[in-house]
Amino acid sequence: MINISHIDLKLQKAPEELFPQVCEQMGYSSDSVSEEIRSKITDIIEKGLTAIQPDFIIRTTPITGWENERIDSEPVIIESKKWAKLLKKMESPEILCCFIVTLGKQIDIINEELSKKNLFDPFVLDAFGSVMVEKAADCLEAIIGMEFKKNRYECSRRFSPGYCDWELKSGQETLCRFLDPKKIGVQCMATGTMIPVKSVSAAMVVARHVPWKVPCRFCNEIKCPYRRENKE
Ligand code: SF4
Repeated sequence: MINISHIDLKLQKAPEELFPQVCEQMGYSSDSVSEEIRSKITDIIEKGLTAIQPDFIIRTTPITGWENERIDSEPVIIESKKWAKLLKKMESPEILCCFIVTLGKQIDIINEELSKKNLFDPFVLDAFGSVMVEKAADCLEAIIGMEFKKNRYECSRRFSPGYCDWELKSGQETLCRFLDPKKIGVQCMATGTMIPVKSVSAAMVVARHVPWKVPCRFCNEIKCPYRRENKE
């Protein structure tokens, strides 16, 4: 159904382009940092770029139901009323596509070394890792969407354990059991976190027609910071 053999995660590699995004992640304005800080941040971005080893695992499974305020498939159960409600608006939701993407363990190792010396450098590397792992997940999401489009399917946006009303710990457990991410060096902890830290797990719903890609339009959480307006 989905051919992943050719997938290449083309992540942005130019430090000067990443600089404003890393600053924003840190809560800084990239225009107002001193030359000294700019040079420090750029050094850490360059260090981070040599350390990342993006890898991923993708698996699909047929959806068996969405009536009981959750999404059921044979091995994966998504306990989310909001996403289950969204499936009612889709035409023939058939497949759950799950993935985990990671930047690899080197970033964690370097961050631990840096944290013995000062607080600023690991803070920057952590922000860099957050920016890059989101880019990796965005890239994978776009590729999955294109792959399914070849077979005339449409996909929802990705959603992760801990978002909306999908509880982090149980969500992470169900995805980790299904995906077995040890193969790409990812460990799922009892708390619901993953090691390497810069890893993202997510699911996407695949259907014949997906008029709304996220449930935000039908959600009463007006002040939710993660609200995504669906324009398609
Ligand atoms: S507004 Fe927030 S809680 Fe509601 S569906 Fe969107 S992301 Fe989820």
